[in-house]
Amino acid sequence: MLGLMQDYPLLVHTVLDHAALNHGEREMVTRSIEGPMRRYNYRDLRVRSLRVAKALQLEGVGIGDRIATMAWNTDRHVETWYGIMGLGAICHTLNPRLFAEQLIYIINHAEDRILFIDLTFVPLAEAIAAHLPTITKYIILTDDEHMPETSLANAVAFETWLDGADADFSWASFDENTAAALCYTSGTTGNPKGVLYSHRSNVLHGLMCNQPDVLGVNSSDNILPIVPMFHANAWALTYAVPTAGASLIMPGAGMDGRSIYELLDTEKVSASAAVPTVWLGLLQHLKENDLELPWLKRVLIGGAACPRMMIETLENKYDVEVIHGWGMTEMSPVGTTGKMKNSTMHLKGEELIKLKLKQGRTPYMVEMKIVDDDGNELPRDGKTAGHLLVRGPAVSSAYYNHDKSILLEGGWFDSGDIAHIDELGYMQITDRDKDVIKSGGEWISSIEIENTAIGCEGIAEAAVIGIAHPKWTERPLLIVVRETGSEVSENEILAYLDGKIAKWWIPEAVEFIDEIPHTATGKIQKMKLREQFGGYRF
Ligand code: AMP
Repeated sequence: MLGLMQDYPLLVHTVLDHAALNHGEREMVTRSIEGPMRRYNYRDLRVRSLRVAKALQLEGVGIGDRIATMAWNTDRHVETWYGIMGLGAICHTLNPRLFAEQLIYIINHAEDRILFIDLTFVPLAEAIAAHLPTITKYIILTDDEHMPETSLANAVAFETWLDGADADFSWASFDENTAAALCYTSGTTGNPKGVLYSHRSNVLHGLMCNQPDVLGVNSSDNILPIVPMFHANAWALTYAVPTAGASLIMPGAGMDGRSIYELLDTEKVSASAAVPTVWLGLLQHLKENDLELPWLKRVLIGGAACPRMMIETLENKYDVEVIHGWGMTEMSPVGTTGKMKNSTMHLKGEELIKLKLKQGRTPYMVEMKIVDDDGNELPRDGKTAGHLLVRGPAVSSAYYNHDKSILLEGGWFDSGDIAHIDELGYMQITDRDKDVIKSGGEWISSIEIENTAIGCEGIAEAAVIGIAHPKWTERPLLIVVRETGSEVSENEILAYLDGKIAKWWIPEAVEFIDEIPHTATGKIQKMKLREQFGGYRF
């Protein structure tokens, strides 16, 4: 027997309708690419998104068409995003930090029809345009006054293009499982793969992120999503924030410490989300200028392991709660968050920091488990590490136009991460499965060594890779980028690590380099480092 409740499809534009009707006065503030701050409210956002949908319809765009964006977090990007999805088309966010060849591959693989681009990326688009046969129009996210000279064929300023459409438009109606958005993973091997989100998965995932034990967004918050919309949906914030009726502060292209601090201060931001490198920039700016963070209450830090020093400084010095999170593009992306719970509230000092360094526990709608190489489930004892598998309504079941199944028996998705889970459900990532260091039959966590090393005075960045060893199979090599002006030595670093990590984890050697290679989403490219240190011998 079926229940007798309404069949109310979970469509992302209903989020915007809700925000405009019930929180219409709440502001959307943008640091524009042209320079000045722009402000309007959720009512305006909805009207302009409807106009985008209508203008796209006038272009002949319909359900299932892929429309690409290459843009920073701005009001115009959000309008474009909701306009595309509200028409039933698919919003394909492109990461401008990818190599040109990868962008060409992705755009052609997705067969994008129109490309919305920020002024910043016009030169990049011009450089690859000749290789993009499916793109018939370039819409530059600016007005006529700021429209650049461009060689892009059929280019138009967004505001001029939008003038051709009023808001007399009804959102399209379709099944909640209809595709809404596409984001390619910037994997370190092979071609990028398309993760295709549905309206239903996005709405559910946005609601999930508003749970108090995730980011807990509510209507009195001012939220600053620093993590870009092209990096896995700005970690769901572009859905979660309007759902809650919080105000949305968009940083545009300003990712440096000074620009971020300015927004935190003038817009009284209460919560924010970004990868560790952004927070490093902010902390440095605060220290250099002797500044405080009176409004900021909590920050979500993820995408890479959050270093101990960052948690300690933000929490103890600035009174900002750090919520360490883990996830991946294939998970929409949030998988776990490390909020305290009743049974951990009493923790203090070292015990507390150890818990905070873990990537956290799953909210409702994400299931996870760890298994050995043969797929047998491993105990939740906080020690035994294994392959981390996940499932849930906002986890991928396949890649776009890719015939290989990606699910294991029982519908589990292998995250590619190695982790342990404790009795209370807190998970800790120890490595990517391709990066684990096998020493004397046991695994050494490169992430833990890196994070500890970062706390040593004079180290700007650290990476650990395994190097072949005749007796132990592999031993860890610590690769370090020194802070400018620092002369920290191998012996000083090893002495610093002594007592902070297991004795047999202490790196065999330390090498100094000028720069550590990163992926387009800011992760250390261990493969490149392994190539670079290919012939290395201890
Ligand atoms: P992406 O799909 O680009 O967001 O990358 C997802 C991957 O980033 C995960 O599978 C992890 O390897 C890594 N990652 C994300 N968050 C964390 C974290 N808090 N600690 C360690 N690794 C993380």
